[in-house]
Amino acid sequence: MIYNSPRGTSDYFGESIKYIDFIIKTSKDLFKLYNYSEIITPHFEYTEVFSRGIGENSDIVKKEMYTFLDKKGRSLTLRPEGTASVVRAVVERKLYSENLPLKLFYIGNMFRYEKPQKGRMREFKQIGIEAIGSDNPAIDAEAIWLLHNLFDNLGFKNLVLYINSIGCSECRRNYIKLLEEYLKPYNEQLCDDCKNRIGKNTLRVFDCKIQTCKNILANAPKISNYLCESCRKHLKDVFSILDILDIKYVHNENLVRGFDYYTRTIFEIISKDIDSTQNALGGGGRYDYLIKEFGGPELSSIGFAIGLERTMLLMQELGIRLKEDENNLLSAYLISMSNEFNSYIFKILKFLRKNKIICDSNFNIKNISKEIKFAKLNGYSHILIIGEDEFNNNLITIKDLNNYTQMKISWLDEKNKLLNLFKNPDYK
Ligand SMILES: [Zn+2]
Ligand SMILES: [Zn+2]
Repeated sequence: MIYNSPRGTSDYFGESIKYIDFIIKTSKDLFKLYNYSEIITPHFEYTEVFSRGIGENSDIVKKEMYTFLDKKGRSLTLRPEGTASVVRAVVERKLYSENLPLKLFYIGNMFRYEKPQKGRMREFKQIGIEAIGSDNPAIDAEAIWLLHNLFDNLGFKNLVLYINSIGCSECRRNYIKLLEEYLKPYNEQLCDDCKNRIGKNTLRVFDCKIQTCKNILANAPKISNYLCESCRKHLKDVFSILDILDIKYVHNENLVRGFDYYTRTIFEIISKDIDSTQNALGGGGRYDYLIKEFGGPELSSIGFAIGLERTMLLMQELGIRLKEDENNLLSAYLISMSNEFNSYIFKILKFLRKNKIICDSNFNIKNISKEIKFAKLNGYSHILIIGEDEFNNNLITIKDLNNYTQMKISWLDEKNKLLNLFKNPDYK
């Protein structure tokens, strides 16, 4: 019997692990520079956390959640995104009683039952931040700056930031009424999805990819013209801080984002190097009511998330090479010519590993040219050969696989020579 992995899941190994490690390390290092600390939440929550948090009418809640009853009949859901869980944890643990804003980041697997496509899986990894407890536009600008910096550090070029405001509950309510008025005469021409959105999640019509709907919406009223005074000022202040930071952005008045909980600032980062239907790298927005919705105090917050697999795929497609530092480490492959030499081999392995030098040995003796070929193929910088002569006289033959120079050292007297070889690549 041969088993396959379930549709929409993947196994990662080899080269993809290097990318995953790189993306995670780059994110963590950067988040720490901005004083964000990590939070780890469970992979599943009570279903209400998401149905209330994300919104009953969102596509995620309606169609895409992995929801099941546990043995006690409680409805649980595998988390489809990160924010609702983080907010649940912050409210439950009262983390907001510390200094605000509370800056948190998360890295973890999410689950959505949707049609798998390139870079979009049913189980996927998301990296995100949440800044909780401040409505200061400086925090919006800083989060946007951080998102930009993240893709910059990952090696992406030609980045563009789209920013918009979808207003507070007041101005948004008025605007949605206007939008619904505007759409009424076109009702028959709209696609079925859009017809369904009206009245429940009307703003999402702007997400529609169908040309007829897009044409209708081209002349629709823009929310930026209907923002209340304080929302208008908030957006203006975000822009002026981005100007101070010298970060280029585009005020994209058609930008809306898929979650009901967003208010005011929403943003997305795209790369001009990618086809325009697939070019969004990540994004986020402000959510000013969600914490209260979860039974916490009124705390304005903002966050963003990026998809790890999608980022990896785009890096590979765009030919973005991983920064070399960790892939270029010097390392040793010990070639033993007999199992009789194991005691000696283990002494050397112990010494090298204690000194943090990556090493391994062939415990399965083949011929020397095959072993050298294997070591080269696997990226080792040096081989250490232990044959009869070396074993009997406590010697090690060292071969540099880059230039094939060779030397023999005494294990008893010249251990440091061995270390220096790895610590200092110029050592001869
Ligand atoms: Zn407003
Ligand atoms: Zn449509």
